[in-house]
Amino acid sequence: MKKMAETSKTVPCRNCDAQIAVEAFAKNFKVCPYCDYHHYMSAYERLDLIVDADSFEEYDADLYSIDSLEFPEYPEKLERDVAKTGLKSEMLSGIANIGGYSTAIAIGDVGFIGGTCGSVIGEKVTRCIERALENRLPLVIVSVSGGMRMQEGTLALMQMAKTAAACAEYAKSGVFYISVVTDPTFGGATASYTSLGDVIVAEPGARIGFAGPLAVASLREELPENFQKAESLLEHGFVDAIVHRSEMRRMLTDMIAFAS
Ligand SMILES: [Zn+2]
Repeated sequence: MKKMAETSKTVPCRNCDAQIAVEAFAKNFKVCPYCDYHHYMSAYERLDLIVDADSFEEYDADLYSIDSLEFPEYPEKLERDVAKTGLKSEMLSGIANIGGYSTAIAIGDVGFIGGTCGSVIGEKVTRCIERALENRLPLVIVSVSGGMRMQEGTLALMQMAKTAAACAEYAKSGVFYISVVTDPTFGGATASYTSLGDVIVAEPGARIGFAGPLAVASLREELPENFQKAESLLEHGFVDAIVHRSEMRRMLTDMIAFAS
């Protein structure tokens, strides 16, 4: 009998090009075991990472974007990314337990039109904050954003004011908002709900900023080392802690327990 050659499946690291065994990659929460680079995770994968098993109750699952400006190719892109991500919009939101604590949670997905923030994400974030407020629950929002969604123009931009107003109301309640920032988070998200957490934690190496590095580079000859990286933002006080993905659930649980 002919012996079959064993083929082990691998994925290349986006940062160091090492070949990582698929099984180890999944077990390691999509973090490269050689260089510690944190790879893209979908909203559903992040949900599994952060919340207690079988505790998630989804809300507002039926909200979806419409092409109100008749922007070229927007309906096709929406259709493509609905099929690709299994989400109806760029964010998953609801209530779940984290370490046994009931928590309002919203998680973005960069795989859905670059995680850009349109009217649906603004509405979902706002409803999630209002739900947390109504039930006096801690709030966790996991941000990932390519900026505001140009295909929705001003309707997208106004979500900054709407979500910021909801955050201001929540801040008065004395309950606790943890903003988790992942790679990449840019534009209006950074300028609104992402930066309004009581505590802001980032994944290692996450790029976080308002204008993207290319736009900034066009105005400055040289950019500082680690420009817009979580490590530099920690040094400058924008980020309160950098938390490795493998520690994220424990760290969130500890912070929620401390504030409860
Ligand atoms: Zn690597």
